Amino acid sequence: MTSLDAAIGGPSLPQKRELKTALPGPKSKEILDRKAKAVAAGVTYSVPVAAVAAGGGVVVDADGNSLIDLGSGIAVTTVGNANPRVAAAVAAQAASFTHTCFMVSPYEGYVEVAEKLNQLTPGDFEKRTALFNSGAEAVENAIKIARIHTKRTAVVAFDHAYHGRTNLTMALTAKAAPYKTGFGPFASDIYRVAGSYPYRDGLSGAEAAKRAISQMDKQIGADQIAAIIIEPIQGEGGFIVPAEGFLETVVAWARENGIVFIADEVQTGFARTGTMFASEQLGIEPDLITTAKGIAGGMPLSAVTGRADIMDASHGGGLGGTYGGNPVACAAALATIAEYEENNLARRAQEIGEIISQKFSALAETDNRIGEIRGLGAMAAVEFVDADGEPNAALAKAAAGQAVAEGVITLTCGTYGNVIRFLPPLSISDELLIEGVDVVIEAVKAN
Ligand SMILES: *Cc1c(COP(=O)(O)O)cnc(C)c1O
Repeated sequence: MTSLDAAIGGPSLPQKRELKTALPGPKSKEILDRKAKAVAAGVTYSVPVAAVAAGGGVVVDADGNSLIDLGSGIAVTTVGNANPRVAAAVAAQAASFTHTCFMVSPYEGYVEVAEKLNQLTPGDFEKRTALFNSGAEAVENAIKIARIHTKRTAVVAFDHAYHGRTNLTMALTAKAAPYKTGFGPFASDIYRVAGSYPYRDGLSGAEAAKRAISQMDKQIGADQIAAIIIEPIQGEGGFIVPAEGFLETVVAWARENGIVFIADEVQTGFARTGTMFASEQLGIEPDLITTAKGIAGGMPLSAVTGRADIMDASHGGGLGGTYGGNPVACAAALATIAEYEENNLARRAQEIGEIISQKFSALAETDNRIGEIRGLGAMAAVEFVDADGEPNAALAKAAAGQAVAEGVITLTCGTYGNVIRFLPPLSISDELLIEGVDVVIEAVKAN
């Protein structure tokens, strides 16, 4: 057994793509029909199956169809959906106690997760952590903390940003449909400026930073700004990697002006990009980092981690929540983080990224609808364009849809809907990954 096999969940689950029915099969369809009658219509899904098991690199549905997973439940099950170490930690903690509320009677697991995050996040300074349940909740709390620390209220977010679906995070999120349309009014004192999207804006990092800083300085006023929040690589916006130097310049300006710089690493965090956090590769040490998705092997947990003086600015009782840092989720996080460290999964993410980009680079030689192949590590994406270089959402949608129908879970993203993104679990085998990517490539060719 190699170290990576240890990260493959559900050892009894055959690692193969196999369709026994068209999707959805009869049993999945029955559950999806019940879903339509029982679940609010706003909660939709992109793969028409009802899952019954998942692990390694596959999701198995109610009809016994086995799909290759190139999405990890949106970058969550990075160590696999049924990682044995995580499953064992969850079972043991659940049998011991499921909840006391950390604000009533604290427990060691929460403290240990905080210590671990303080140690693992970039920046060699004293840190503190607070735990929550979801990415949006972490972002909300990072903003609260920045505001009380700076005694300022303005918050800057960027074009193409995604920070969640709660009221404050909807205001921070850029894309109207489907995230914001009809759900206002939104939280106030949020400002949006242009970021860095080298493929579309053609600007160097220095030029893009100059534009953003000028907008912040002239339209808001540096001394009014509590926080600048940005995803180091923008996720839902299209896996946009900023031009070199952009983030460093904005961080330096924030520091000069007493502004809290928040890196939203909810999607980029935890080995996904080839380092534990994307900020490391992009040369920045954020004041605060928000994390969630990959943190706890699928259990709901999120965190704000950062400079001790900023994190400690809130009065007692100002932060927290009934479930934040739930003991079962904390046990899962400790097991998950041990998997990242002991199996060097950051290195595995780099290998996965190389396989995906090599495959698409070969296709790009003959298919000029591939505008750009980008990403970092196992957060990889392809942006599709038409003959005029305009976003080609129809192709991304058709190709992803065909890949799903053929048994490969493939997600799209992007402000223009023209990006196919790859977020495979790091527990996937090379064989399965290559088969899955080949199915997507054939789907692109066919559409
Ligand atoms: C998914 C995501 C969020 C929101 O996380 P939830 O757990 O869905 O609330 C926030 N920021 C980024 C960058 C995300 O990718």
